[in-house]
Amino acid sequence: MADLKLTDVRKTFGAVDVIKGVDLDIRAGEFIVFVGPSGCGKSTLLRLIAGLEEITGGTFTIDGQVVNGLPPAKRGIAMVFQSYALYPHMTVYENMAFGMKLAKAGKDDVDRRVRRAAEMLQLTQYLDRLPKQLSGGQRQRVAIGRAITRDPKVFLFDEPLSNLDAALRVATRIEIARLHESMPTTTMIYVTHDQVEAMTLADRIVVLNGGRVEQVGTPMELYHHPDNLFVAGFIGSPA
Ligand code: ADP
Ligand code: MG
Repeated sequence: MADLKLTDVRKTFGAVDVIKGVDLDIRAGEFIVFVGPSGCGKSTLLRLIAGLEEITGGTFTIDGQVVNGLPPAKRGIAMVFQSYALYPHMTVYENMAFGMKLAKAGKDDVDRRVRRAAEMLQLTQYLDRLPKQLSGGQRQRVAIGRAITRDPKVFLFDEPLSNLDAALRVATRIEIARLHESMPTTTMIYVTHDQVEAMTLADRIVVLNGGRVEQVGTPMELYHHPDNLFVAGFIGSPA
C-alpha cells in the first residue's frame, strides 16, 4: 500500500523552472493519469516521483514518510518507459528475472514471480523467446512484466503505448486496465497525451500545464465541469 503526497514540489534545471509548485494527494490503489501538452512537465514529475531526478523544492512523502532524497531502488516504485529497453541477448524469462536476481532473490521466488507475471500478461508461451522474436506489443508487455516481478507498491508508466500501432495500443491498454484490477492495492501513475487513454484508464486525471496542475478530478468531473477553457480543450468537452 502506498499513499503519495506531493506538497509544493518544484524542479528547476539550471535557471529554468520546469515544475512550479505541484500539490497532489494520491491514495493507495488509485489509477492516476497525468495529461497535458508536450513539454508541460509530465515526464519530469514522474521522474521526481521515481527518484530519478531530485526535487529542488517542496516535499514528497510515501505513506507519510519524507522520501525526497531516497534513491529509486528504495522507494518500492517501478517505472515502464515509452521505449521498452529489453536486453536483446536474453530470453523473455531472463529479461523478467534479471532485476530480481540483482536484488538477490532466491531462485524459487524468482521463478514463481516470473511465471505469475507472465500469466497476468499472457506471455507464458513466449518465455523462451528473444525480444526480436516478439511483436512490439509483446515486448512492451515483457517490460511491464519485468516491473511486476519486482512487486512494486507504485507503478509508473511514461507513455507506454506511444510506440505501438493503433490496434496494439488498444489491446495493450486493455491489458493495463486488467493489470490495475488484478493489483488493487498498487498505485499506478500513467502519463499520456492521449485523451482516450486518459478517459478510459483513470480513476482521476491530473491536467498539467506549464509545470502546474490545472485541475484534478475523475474523467466525468473534468468532462462535465472543467475549471477553465484549457481543461475543456484538453479533455475534449464542449464547454
Ligand atoms: P513532457 O513529458 O510533458 O513532454 P518533460 O517533463 O519531458 O515534458 O519536459 C518539461 C520541460 O523540462 C521541457 O521544457 C524540457 O525541455 C525541460 N527539461 C526536461 N528535462 C530536462 C533536463 N534534464 N535539463 C533541462 N531541461 C529539461
Ligand atoms: Mg514526456
